[in-house]
Amino acid sequence: MSPPSENPCLSCGACCRTYRVSFYWGEALELGLPTELIEQVTPHLACMAGTNATQPRCVALGHGTAGPMACGVYPQRPSPCRELQIGDEKCNRARERHGLLPLSPQCS
Ligand code: SF4
Ligand code: SF4
Repeated sequence: MSPPSENPCLSCGACCRTYRVSFYWGEALELGLPTELIEQVTPHLACMAGTNATQPRCVALGHGTAGPMACGVYPQRPSPCRELQIGDEKCNRARERHGLLPLSPQCS
């Protein structure tokens, strides 16, 4: 998900409802992610709670104040969320899965 500046993420959240958002456990500690928002996947790997499911939905989705699908832990979001960009392949695959039109990549 991209920065909250007039971006479509705030009313989309498709990527947060499509993929398992996994990262090294130590990253969660470094970022200060609340432990109740993460799940252990392996001894070294964690994921955002709710995303390791057949129909994923991150528990933090919709808990921000910037929009209906705003991330509730935006400053502490893990690396997969920082890496995914509007209009990239993963973004548009997620949007397609949720019946949304593809987006063009945006300059940052
Ligand atoms: S799928 Fe794309 S537009 Fe939607 S929230 Fe994720 S990055 Fe933003
Ligand atoms: S932490 Fe935020 S950006 Fe990452 S999947 Fe959850 S709601 Fe989306």
